[in-house]
Amino acid sequence: MQPQIVLLKEGTDTSQGKPQLVSNINACQSIVDAVRTTLGPRGMDKLIVDSQGKATISNDGATIMKLLEIVHPAAKTLVDIAKSQDAEVGDGTTSVVLLAGEFLKQVKPFVEEGVHPRVIIKAIRKALQLCMEKINEMAVQIEKQSKEEQRALLEKCAATAMSSKLIHQQKDFFSKIVVDAVLSLDELLPLNMIGIKKVTGGSLEESQLISGVAFKKTFAYAGFEMAPKSYDKCKIALLNIELELKAERDNAEIRVDNVKEYQKVVDAEWQILYNKLAKIHESGANVVLSKLPIGDVATQYFADRDIFCAGRVPEEDLKRTMKACGGAVMTTANDINASVLGLCEHFEERQVGGERFNLFQGCPNAKTSTLILRGGAEQFLEETERSLHDAIMIVRRTIKHDSVVAGGGAIEMELSKLLRDYSRTIAGKEQLLIAAIAKGLEVIPRQLCDNAGFDATNILNKLRQKHAQGGQWFGVDITKEDISDNFEQCVWEPSIIKINALTAAAEAACMVLSVDETIKSPKAGEPPMAGGGPMGMGRGMGRPM
Ligand code: ADP
Ligand code: MG
Repeated sequence: MQPQIVLLKEGTDTSQGKPQLVSNINACQSIVDAVRTTLGPRGMDKLIVDSQGKATISNDGATIMKLLEIVHPAAKTLVDIAKSQDAEVGDGTTSVVLLAGEFLKQVKPFVEEGVHPRVIIKAIRKALQLCMEKINEMAVQIEKQSKEEQRALLEKCAATAMSSKLIHQQKDFFSKIVVDAVLSLDELLPLNMIGIKKVTGGSLEESQLISGVAFKKTFAYAGFEMAPKSYDKCKIALLNIELELKAERDNAEIRVDNVKEYQKVVDAEWQILYNKLAKIHESGANVVLSKLPIGDVATQYFADRDIFCAGRVPEEDLKRTMKACGGAVMTTANDINASVLGLCEHFEERQVGGERFNLFQGCPNAKTSTLILRGGAEQFLEETERSLHDAIMIVRRTIKHDSVVAGGGAIEMELSKLLRDYSRTIAGKEQLLIAAIAKGLEVIPRQLCDNAGFDATNILNKLRQKHAQGGQWFGVDITKEDISDNFEQCVWEPSIIKINALTAAAEAACMVLSVDETIKSPKAGEPPMAGGGPMGMGRGMGRPM
């Protein structure tokens, strides 16, 4: 008998070779099936309840993937590409997962038949390169000449991004708001200068855009009622100072032996507070915002002097106010003077639904705006926020790279045609592989049809025919159960979404294909694996799942 060679720790889980590859592809497939139905204007939403019982309703691929808590190592790559798509362009997160999954599905028969993964990877890379060239060639540049034209274009892109979301009924309303919000920013289009605040209650149409900073009224002590609630041309002091008489936090001990001494201590404390307040008053500020609490004494002091004050302002709001209105956040009251105060044209406290809001408008420095969202349930508002985030990202992207392509599967069909034509000109394995990828690209229009309940085979046939005849912008028409020129229909998407989605999907597919062995060490303290770790990958496992 030959001695057994022990290479890896007892309980280490390994599986390798072709079966491992196929099993990874299958794992990816099951992830894709989870998000498949959310694609497109007729896509469904997912309700995900996490281990703490928190429910989230979403149509956004990245959000769903994040919440799924996937443990399979290969399938995690799909989560990562969805996340990266979300971070890079903000939209197209479902598409990217679908494309990667479909590429893998299409090449799976080749893997099973023993084509070397490297050959497949090479073909995918080649196909990707051809697609990139084609997209760049086809993308329609939008001239920035007239402001109105640019606005119209941006509104269309925003509307397309929102047409697949819960708020698609209100997309015209929101696309205006989103474009206004983004255009109000400065050149760099910093995302964090658009604040989004949610107030439950009311209808979606009551949502509004405030040009300037707005935040919910903070907790206030008695006395605030007397302070004025609106100013013109106001000076704002931004503080990180506690204006409160407080019980000693550390265990300081003061020994006094008579009442007079004690009175002195108390007086000193009050004196310190009054000194701070006087400094702030002298600086000429008429609005005081502080990150830390402002107590009752301070509140009354300010109210007596016609100064508005708000304590415990969230840090991000304070920072946004600082960027918008100028000034500096002070940590001591000693050097407060007119030069560190922020300025704004108009300040008011206003009722929005059941909440009171502090609004700062006409800020001289940075350009910023705040969206106040209204709507029914909280989950609904959260999904609205995510959808608007997608739309805002799209508008920003379109301003930066002003070229668009037609959506609704049009661009994918055209690329598919390109690859199919190309595959006919070459010989060997690569021909079949490129043709398989061409087929993979059709997943987007097919899924759009499936989700809308259309006959996908029929529509895809029509589309292939149209594209063969040169109708390069023909895609699925969601309203008429037919095909249409989606460029004329104004289903526009920035070309950067497609470029990024295709690149990420191809990369992910290549990555999954290039892994042929998974080695998993046993967790410390755990008994050696018997019959399968996560998703059934036990020792020697490697059968397709
Ligand atoms: P993603 O997370 O990938 O953005 P969506 O659910 O937003 O997924 O769906 C996007 C897809 O829906 C894109 O392929 C887009 O072209 C398509 N689409 C959006 N609006 C329309 C429309 N009005 N008609 C046809 N297709 C549309
Ligand atoms: Mg989308």
